[in-house]
Amino acid sequence: MELWYTEKQTENFGITAKIKQTYVHEQTDFQELAMIETEEWGNMLVLDGMVMTTVRDEFVYHEMVTHPALFTHPNPENVLVVGGGDGGVIREVLKHPKVKKAVLVDIDGKVIEYSKQYLPSIAGKLDDARVSVQVDDGFKHIHDHKNTYDVILADTTEPVGPAVQLFTRGFYQGIYESLKDDGLFVAQTDNPWFKADLIRTVNRDVKEVFPIVRVFTANIPTYPSGLWTFTMGSKKHDPLNVKKEDIAELDTKYYTPSIHFAAFALPKFVEDLTK
Ligand code: SAM
Repeated sequence: MELWYTEKQTENFGITAKIKQTYVHEQTDFQELAMIETEEWGNMLVLDGMVMTTVRDEFVYHEMVTHPALFTHPNPENVLVVGGGDGGVIREVLKHPKVKKAVLVDIDGKVIEYSKQYLPSIAGKLDDARVSVQVDDGFKHIHDHKNTYDVILADTTEPVGPAVQLFTRGFYQGIYESLKDDGLFVAQTDNPWFKADLIRTVNRDVKEVFPIVRVFTANIPTYPSGLWTFTMGSKKHDPLNVKKEDIAELDTKYYTPSIHFAAFALPKFVEDLTK
């Protein structure tokens, strides 16, 4: 018998992958968690019925949450990752030699535990000496840590369950206060095909808080519609003013110095969401 996992985007459309085996399927204190082995994408983490990451295409998302931000900030010594319990963003953050400390705050310890077990190529750097892993609410963490971070990366679930408050103006204001004077942040902001209103609202809210706001995209085949957006809010540094020759070569598979700039060139219908 063939088993297929389907993530429904609307009542009429979803994305689907053939399942080889299911390792874990349980309700944690915060969300429904599944760890599945798929034929096409390798091991896949699913939370509340939504694909979070797969071994085969995870590099796109994790590199793009991280490198545009860390190459825009001239000296990213202290970095906070909100969410990100699979460890992929932390792995990318640690590729930057200027990083002295990376704090990961995920609300759900089960995500961290199962990612270490079933996604070792993603979670493998969570035990690095520069990393502090904390199981806590990211909203609370930023409000308890004012003027602390150079860069904050919000690698969160979509705005359901525990992540609802991570897509509010109050969250962006908290991030602003948790950043140092020249700090900046990036948040994943979903896709423009099915979540146009979300992108529009986030853009409006971030603009109320940060003087520099930029949206960029990446192609992620296992996320709904494949076209994913990220929003950067910055106090001082503009990603478009980075000098290309200052972008050091890193061991990446998606991000390059050219992608750093190209990613900010938006299709018209996406650009319209930012006006
Ligand atoms: N890359 C994914 C995506 O966009 O589909 C998201 C990655 S997943 C690791 C996001 C993480 O955010 C989950 O592990 C979840 O537990 C965490 N999370 C949700 N709400 C949170 C909160 N309020 N504070 C901290 N972490 C939270």
